[in-house]
Amino acid sequence: MLIVQKYGGSSVATPEQILSVVQRVARTHSEGNSIVVVVSAMGDTTDNLIDLVRKVTANPDDREMDVLLSTGEQVAISLLAMALKEIDKPVISLTGPQAGIFTDCGHTKAKILKIETQRLKNELKQGKIIIVAGFQGINRTNDITTLGRGGSDTTAVALAAALKAALCEIYTDVDGVYTTDPRIVPEAQKLKEVSYAEMLELASLGAAVLHPRSVELAMKYKIPLIVRSSFNQNPGTIVKEVNLMERSQAVTGVAYDHNVAKIGIFNVLDKPGIAYRLFKSLSDQKVNVDMIIQSAMRNDRNDISFTCNQADVRKAIEVIQAQLSELGADGFISDEKVAKVSIVGAGMVSNPGVAALMFEALCEEGINLEMISTSEIKISCIIRSEDTHKAVTALHKKFDLSAAN
Ligand code: ADP
Ligand code: ASP
Ligand code: MG
Repeated sequence: MLIVQKYGGSSVATPEQILSVVQRVARTHSEGNSIVVVVSAMGDTTDNLIDLVRKVTANPDDREMDVLLSTGEQVAISLLAMALKEIDKPVISLTGPQAGIFTDCGHTKAKILKIETQRLKNELKQGKIIIVAGFQGINRTNDITTLGRGGSDTTAVALAAALKAALCEIYTDVDGVYTTDPRIVPEAQKLKEVSYAEMLELASLGAAVLHPRSVELAMKYKIPLIVRSSFNQNPGTIVKEVNLMERSQAVTGVAYDHNVAKIGIFNVLDKPGIAYRLFKSLSDQKVNVDMIIQSAMRNDRNDISFTCNQADVRKAIEVIQAQLSELGADGFISDEKVAKVSIVGAGMVSNPGVAALMFEALCEEGINLEMISTSEIKISCIIRSEDTHKAVTALHKKFDLSAAN
């Protein structure tokens, strides 16, 4: 059977850990499986490269950023391949471009467009273990691209889909997907299984254990994902299609995201076309807007607030400054000291009162809700960043998630 295994940065942080990954990969191969291994950069390599950039420029060029950041994964694949050769395993390492991973031109957050599998299939036919650099590809102008932070998960799932692998295993530093981040809430419970839809929400709302686009792809191509630890043999969590019709528990997990900024624009004219022009300009500048709130009208004026990623704040401010007089606005504020906490669960639809319980939990901690947004299977609140741990812990307790499973 063909298996794709992905090892995250924390699983290959040291030479010793690389040797332990070698043992696992070799065992899977010896059991008669074909295997494609995707690796991330060692430990904090990517963060360290970004720190280096900050020392030379405040305004890095996106193309050059990709040239730099893609080097981290290249170190990891070659070391892993050399170590596998050392124990006489047939193996070849390939960069994203060599593996045929073609992306769009969106430097630093490129999307995979297609994978040309000819080379991969040839190497597999020769019985080789293929080690592919995660998080990178090549665009139509032959430039190297990267897929956004955490993007190696997406490389793995995309390869699994393109090669029609039986499954995709994501090896990381936790035993699986938990009811919330176990680093914050030690009582968090490992989920035996979780649906694609819930996992997609959890990942999009900040649960770093999987890159959101990897879950999207797994859902689209029905690739079963197994999230497990590279440090032990525990069974992990299966992400798959789950029949959610009779889900008794309303909430499956709690997620949080610090990478949020809130922008408020005051006394905007209340007339047709204002919101359209503002949000069209933001989207033209590729600012990804998340929550939007327009206050009740008074004296033909509204306040409009929205959230976006912290990385987009500078661009958002430029757009607003350029439109201030057209919007008729008095001014604006941007605030990066906020966070988003969310509860996710397919059972919410059939369990009334979930929102009230969430607000009760946060109110009991004296936490102010600055923005709220809901969908069928999630409720998110913007709060002060410093309240995040308190909020996540309180929500986990209120919904009795330490008793899950
Ligand atoms: P890798 O380097 O393997 O890609 P990441 O740091 O990207 O690892 O993801 C694993 C981390 O995700 C865990 O150490 C954990 O702190 C965090 N995490 C956040 N939410 C969850 C969750 N619900 N379940 C498990 N881990 C989570
Ligand atoms: N090395 C990249 C990062 O740190 C990609 C990944 O780890 O998935 O974001
Ligand atoms: Mg990751």
